[in-house]
Amino acid sequence: MHDLPNGLPARPNSLEEHWLPFTSNRDFKENPRLVVQSEGVYCWDHKGGKLIDGSSALFCCPAGHGRQEIAKAVYDQMTTNSYTPHFQMGHPGSFELAKRVTALLPEGMNHVFFVNSGSESIDTALKMVMAFHRANGDGQRLRFVSRERAYHGVNMGGVSLSGMVKNRETFPVVMPNVVTIRHTMTGKDLFHEGQPEHDGVELANDLQRHCETYGGSTIAAVFVEPVAGSTGTLVPPKGYLERLREICDEHGILLVFDEVITGFGRLGSNFAAQHFGVTPDICTMAKALTNGCIPMGAVAAQDRIYETITNASPMNAIEFFHGYTYSAHPAACAAGIAAMEIYEREGLFEKAAALAPYFADAMMSLRDHELVKDIRTIGLMSGLEFHHDGVPGRRGAKMQKDLFWNGCHVKFTGETAIVAPMFIATRAHVDEIIDKIRTTMDQQLA
Ligand code: PMP
Repeated sequence: MHDLPNGLPARPNSLEEHWLPFTSNRDFKENPRLVVQSEGVYCWDHKGGKLIDGSSALFCCPAGHGRQEIAKAVYDQMTTNSYTPHFQMGHPGSFELAKRVTALLPEGMNHVFFVNSGSESIDTALKMVMAFHRANGDGQRLRFVSRERAYHGVNMGGVSLSGMVKNRETFPVVMPNVVTIRHTMTGKDLFHEGQPEHDGVELANDLQRHCETYGGSTIAAVFVEPVAGSTGTLVPPKGYLERLREICDEHGILLVFDEVITGFGRLGSNFAAQHFGVTPDICTMAKALTNGCIPMGAVAAQDRIYETITNASPMNAIEFFHGYTYSAHPAACAAGIAAMEIYEREGLFEKAAALAPYFADAMMSLRDHELVKDIRTIGLMSGLEFHHDGVPGRRGAKMQKDLFWNGCHVKFTGETAIVAPMFIATRAHVDEIIDKIRTTMDQQLA
């Protein structure tokens, strides 16, 4: 099957040396699933099998694989100026990309700090929060609030905020001073499209109780994924985010939205902030920022955050003692600008919004299957949850593999398939994804 562009074989002679992330390596290496080519909504494995991408490559590629415009922009950038660091100097591309990103954000979020991944965006946001409160004469605010079933990446800050038990069990001693509030899946609203009606304010009032327990003036920030993605598409009930915003305002707490998944059109709006009509103080993003072409993340901040931090230092002093060697790498900026141009020119966020109702119906067509426990959808993301087979995670792991060999790639978390089509997908593509999932479900029963 296809050799790689550099002439190396599609199936390497040895698979031992690469230790894959978030993978059962021993199992994988017995029967590897290698993708050698991709274009549009499809990719091809090393045996020549064609797969439809049912999770937009971990939400990264809404505009599809193999976009020539992005490849050309990166090539042009690399052959003009391959790398400029951003410590006390810069290159123009980052300013252009920052301007385009802020144009998509809610009003007042006019400052963007670039990083290289979602995880880095979270650790950067944590530091931004601390720097803001310190500059504001509020340095006693050192407590952070996160949620059960939250996923905020894998760096030490993000793991500290995590509400996933695996993160917590394996890496127990991380950042102190993180308290958690409940997640929003109450089980009352199974098979739900969009936001559940129940309990939004009551669930958000967990934060109020923390303010009463710890003192609101000790809490620095609340981190929330507007829709929890990696734990299976947990959609916030009506009134929930609004109430969190209200409590934060009352107590001077910063509200941070982790939009690594929901940013750039996933819900049909620019960001989830606009979809839910709630504006955070700080917003993290990654993935679709470059259509997944070059690793990049970013943190956007309200004017008052940027101004407070930058104005607190003398003119010639470094104001925010933080940054990465590859922050705002020129190649990533070029990819980001090209991705933003595609999103706008092709009206892809509008296309996502237009496809969402069809997608929701298609997902719900699976509800009567005996393996299915719950389905929830919002925009072009969904969680399809299966009953487990007695051993948590086993059915999900098997189905993910079987589905791959049946010609569809979908991300699973435990027993939940996270189906999230690309924005360039047609109704026929949605049908194809659903058919392959249904076939794979039926096979489990045979
Ligand atoms: N935050 C959220 C909400 C995410 O979904 C992810 C990745 N799935 C991250 C942070 C971490 O991003 P990365 O894997 O790029 O570090």
